[in-house]
Amino acid sequence: LNIEQEHHEDKDGLVVEYTPGVPVLQSLTFHVNAGERIGVVGRTGAGKSTLSLAFLRFVEAAQGRIVVDGIDISQIGLERLRNAITIIPQDPVLFHGTIRFNLDPFDECPDEILLDALRRTCLLRDESRTDNGGIVMDIRMPGVIGSLEDKVEENGQNLSLGQRQLVALARALVRRSKIIIMDEATASVDFDTDSRFQRSVCTSEFAGSTLFCIAHRLRTIINYDRVLVLDKGKIAEFDTPAVL
Ligand code: ATP
Ligand code: MG
Repeated sequence: LNIEQEHHEDKDGLVVEYTPGVPVLQSLTFHVNAGERIGVVGRTGAGKSTLSLAFLRFVEAAQGRIVVDGIDISQIGLERLRNAITIIPQDPVLFHGTIRFNLDPFDECPDEILLDALRRTCLLRDESRTDNGGIVMDIRMPGVIGSLEDKVEENGQNLSLGQRQLVALARALVRRSKIIIMDEATASVDFDTDSRFQRSVCTSEFAGSTLFCIAHRLRTIINYDRVLVLDKGKIAEFDTPAVL
C-alpha cells in the first residue's frame, strides 16, 4: 500500500474546497507508507476532518489527487472505496446485541478472524487470566471482552467511549480496511482513559492497515510513527513525534 497525496504534473498538490474558490485544504503533498500510524493534529478548523472526508470522497478534490496503492481514488467506485477505507467517528455506532453481531452482522467470518481482531485491538480479556477466575471487570480497561457472545447494550452503553472505538477498530480489521481514520474520540475523555486507549492502539497489530488518528493533543499521538501538523489547510510539519 502506498498512499500518496500529490499531483505529479501540478506541483500545487491537493486542494479541497466546499465553496468554489475558497480552499479549505491547499497545496497538500505527502506520502505515507503502508502500515504506518499517522497522527494528524492542528487547531480547530485546520482541515483535519475535511482531509478524512476527502479520503472517502464525501468532498471531492478541486485540484490534485489522492492515490492509494497506485490507484487514483477518483477513478474507483464509491462502494469499493468506502469498503477499503473506514472512518471511525468520535462516538461510533454500536448495535444492541452481541460482540459477534457488532463485528460481523452478516455472519460471514469464522470465529478465529473475529477473535483475532479482538486480540489485535487489545479488547479480548487475557485468556490465561480468565482461567483462574475472579477477574474484576473494569469496563474502562482494554481486555474487557470475554467472548464473542458478550452482550452490547443499546448504543454500547456498557462500554466506555474508548472501548466503543476499539470495537469499531476491530470491525474495521474484520472488514480488512486498508486505511482506518479515527476522528479523535479522545477529546472529551480524561487523560487517563485517553492514554490507556492510545496504549492499546499503539500495541495493537494492524497487519497492513494504515492508521490515521486525528487528535487535538500532541501527547495523544506521541507513540505514532509520524505526525502530520495541519495549519489553516496547509501542512505545517510532517515528521516523527520526537522531532516535533
Ligand atoms: P476541528 O478540530 O474543530 O474538528 P478540523 O480541523 O476538523 O476542526 P474541518 O472540519 O476540516 O476542521 O474544517 C476546516 C474548514 O472547513 C473550517 O474553516 C470549516 O468552517 C470549513 N468547513 C467544514 N465543513 C464545511 C462544510 N460542510 N461547508 C463549508 N465549510 C466547511
Ligand atoms: Mg474535525
